[in-house]
Amino acid sequence: MNQPQPQTEPTPCDRIISAGWVITVDTDRRIIRDGALAITGSTIVAIGKRADVDATYRALERIDRPDAVVLPGMANGHRHLLCCAKGAMPEGGSTLESLRRFIYPSFSSLEPEDMNVYARHATAEMIRNGTTLFEEPGCNHIDAVLPAIADSGMRARIGLWTWDQQGSAGSTDLPDWLNLSTEDAIKRLEEGLEVVQAFGNDRIRPAVTIEGVGTCSDRLSVAAARLAEETQTLAVQHKSTSEREVQLELAAYGQRPIQHTAAIGALNPYTLLNHVTSLDLDDVAAIADSGATISQNPSTALKLAKGTTQFGKWPELIAAGVPMGLGTDAENCSNHQDICRAIYLAALLSRDARQDPGAVSAETAVELGTLGGARALRFDDVTGSLEVGKEADVVVFDTNDYDWRPLHNPIANLTYGVTGHSVDTVLIGGRVVLENKKSTIVDEDALRDEVEATDRKILAKIGIDPRPAWPVI
Ligand SMILES: [Zn+2]
Repeated sequence: MNQPQPQTEPTPCDRIISAGWVITVDTDRRIIRDGALAITGSTIVAIGKRADVDATYRALERIDRPDAVVLPGMANGHRHLLCCAKGAMPEGGSTLESLRRFIYPSFSSLEPEDMNVYARHATAEMIRNGTTLFEEPGCNHIDAVLPAIADSGMRARIGLWTWDQQGSAGSTDLPDWLNLSTEDAIKRLEEGLEVVQAFGNDRIRPAVTIEGVGTCSDRLSVAAARLAEETQTLAVQHKSTSEREVQLELAAYGQRPIQHTAAIGALNPYTLLNHVTSLDLDDVAAIADSGATISQNPSTALKLAKGTTQFGKWPELIAAGVPMGLGTDAENCSNHQDICRAIYLAALLSRDARQDPGAVSAETAVELGTLGGARALRFDDVTGSLEVGKEADVVVFDTNDYDWRPLHNPIANLTYGVTGHSVDTVLIGGRVVLENKKSTIVDEDALRDEVEATDRKILAKIGIDPRPAWPVI
């Protein structure tokens, strides 16, 4: 009787990526020296030592980078595509002032073709910096945006910009733009879910997006939370973004924003809170008890003077196990789309604030930029770590430059010294979308011209002529 022969031939796969260091962010947080991962279709089918993967799999294509560091694709937990005109927002405004003077007028001036340009530019910039997943906290002209995201290859959560202008901040100085009744706002949330679902791209998941920041009624907040829970999507809003917002809500409701949101029943495991800059310990407990997730946006907090070093509760949120990611926010809030820079700040802000060098570890900061963001966006079933069965969302860093050398501990280099500019190659779902620091998707030079022309058009509409305070001769 013939016995089956042991299989000695390697199994075919589409691609093998090998690198000097593979940071998996898997359950055991393994970092594999001289590691490799094998990809078939969009999926990781093997990960381990290069010698073991090579003995088991034979690839049609290879990316062999013995000097490189490989990381899971990073997640941007807060990135408005409605934004525009980097560097044009007048300096010196608080969050609420900047919204009213610059951001809302800009948003309301956009036409569908402008949104398409901004979406193509933002996704190209995020990919250039190693981001493979992002959350759009409420956009407009979504029919022009969805094809741009789909073409980019990125994963995203997205919904329609929605408010009813009946929150604690009042309606003074708010624009007529999309000024909806509560009833119509709820319908718009449902429409946003339907449009994204009907678009039918499995990398793009719907969200129930209300603005928050004191511009939404309790009834709208509760409806958004329930809709997200019923549809198992994600209710997204800006909340407790500054101490000023806290004071407004205390005056209006006698409760801090987080505790008021919890009290009315608008916090649940399908809620994503953006910013959450100004918190007390009861707020942290309310978020943790609810199962809600959050995105911290550290460079925005610093630029707009939100007080994250004074009122932030990063260590407490981490200790409470709240799923937390990092974001860069709108174009003029961070002026960059680099999650590496957010990781740097995530590690350091709380150390200085608490005068405790152990307040947030480098490993935790890297986790926030990868798996933490995927968990916060409810995408960790497919991305956020490099593991068999997950999608092949992979970043390859070129380490042949000063920020990566000397290289003894890649987590330390990545946290303290590296920017997204050392990202060399990016794959999303096994597809190469950045190669040798160049997009494989868009003509980046042409896109730069397009976005600057669009910016000039929008700035002319809203009467802003950006220039430095120094004389330009
Ligand atoms: Zn925002």
